[in-house]
Amino acid sequence: MAVQFFDTYTRKLETFVPLDPAGKIVKLYTCGPTVYNYAHIGNFRAYVFEDLLQRHLEARGYDVQRVMNLTDVDDKTIRGCRNLGVRLADFTKTFKDAFFADLDTLRIKRAQAFPAATDYVERMIEMIRDLEAKGIAYQAEDKSLYFRISKFADYGKLAHLNLDELRPSGRIANDEYEKESVGDFALWKAWDEADGDVRWDSPWGPGRPGWHIECSAMATALLGDELDIHCGGVDNIFPHHEAEIAQTESCTGKKFVRTWLHCAHLMVDGGKMSKSAGNFFTLRDLIEKGWTGREIRYALITVNYRLPLNFTLDEGLPAARAALGRIDEWARRLAETAASAQPGTIAPEMAALVEGFFTALDDDLNISGAMGQLFDLIRDTNRALDSGALDAAGAAAVQAAWQRMNSVLRFEADAVAIPAEVTELLAQRQAARAAKNWSESDRIRDAIAALGWVVKDSKDGPKLSPK
Ligand code: AMP
Ligand code: ZN
Repeated sequence: MAVQFFDTYTRKLETFVPLDPAGKIVKLYTCGPTVYNYAHIGNFRAYVFEDLLQRHLEARGYDVQRVMNLTDVDDKTIRGCRNLGVRLADFTKTFKDAFFADLDTLRIKRAQAFPAATDYVERMIEMIRDLEAKGIAYQAEDKSLYFRISKFADYGKLAHLNLDELRPSGRIANDEYEKESVGDFALWKAWDEADGDVRWDSPWGPGRPGWHIECSAMATALLGDELDIHCGGVDNIFPHHEAEIAQTESCTGKKFVRTWLHCAHLMVDGGKMSKSAGNFFTLRDLIEKGWTGREIRYALITVNYRLPLNFTLDEGLPAARAALGRIDEWARRLAETAASAQPGTIAPEMAALVEGFFTALDDDLNISGAMGQLFDLIRDTNRALDSGALDAAGAAAVQAAWQRMNSVLRFEADAVAIPAEVTELLAQRQAARAAKNWSESDRIRDAIAALGWVVKDSKDGPKLSPK
């Protein structure tokens, strides 16, 4: 089966065909964070879903060229730096750095480029000039430039708006607004006092870009006029992505995006987790409560992206911890049995489960289906290990299959560094054993245990593992 996605534009499940004639390269643009605060785990739901998308496409042999922007100038960042009385660049740097550290905590693969909006203002101005020359952008009395939505016949198609019923309400200067206030949106915002020293020169006087033109400029600068996939959370559909289509297609005359994918929200008590609602946890909050990055990744990634994910502290994360414990124990048993054997063949029914894992993901990233296949594989392998039916070569083959699946999931346990003290004690224990001094060897084993490590002797020598 080919890869299929539910496209927000057509509202249909579509077979994925890249624009690349060779069928290899996939151009992916994902809206990144507005760096005015630490990203909350609702934001990370979107980024983890995009990570799953990228990794699955790569597992299927595509070469994914991904760009994720950093919105480092908009209404929110300006408000933030003005409140603190610091420069915009200094204000956003803190949150840019935190964002990259958080990506690593959640094992999210880096995009090839993370353009910052403030580095692309020239290009945004060029696009707006082009729109003005075409009679699509106009300068209003407030000196700002707006996009005349009546000039773009397809306006509203992504969000499935009926403009005749909605009766556009003039102009909107804000970056974010509800569908009910649809209207001409801001491309360039004339400087006013509230902007402080945040300003760029332009043919229309000092000012700054609107949020939507930022993504159009960065996406086309780095990926070209046509993209295969563009993602975000459902709140990005309107007005942000609707505006991106209108601006970009009016400039280029080409279809901007072939497939639009949007993840449903992470919810708290029935409402969207958001900074403005004040009902959010940052990744750092959860780490402080003792959860690990991989547990949080598990809780975010294992719910199908188009389903709302209801987040509670006492359900998703404990379940993630238990499931990962089961996977760890299985991986440990496999490794033990497979040690020193060449990969062999995998039993046909197990091979089918591995293939089923990837076929489930082909179906619009059906992760619950894929996880079902993985847990069936774990159950069957454990049974085969119990009965001795799985030999070293078979276990090594299952291990290799797990590595393929895990290239998408990234659920492996964190590597734990063995403290020097423990390594030293282990060497002393080996010496005691060589001298057949068993009581000394036992005493050292207990000392190692007191430091939190277990020694197991095997034919290949002693093995240490954390308790
Ligand atoms: P922002 O920093 O607000 O621009 O949001 C960054 C990304 O997070 C966007 O793709 C949003 O759609 C997404 N997002 C924001 N809140 C949530 C949420 N509660 N659940 C899922 N995605 C979200
Ligand atoms: Zn964007």
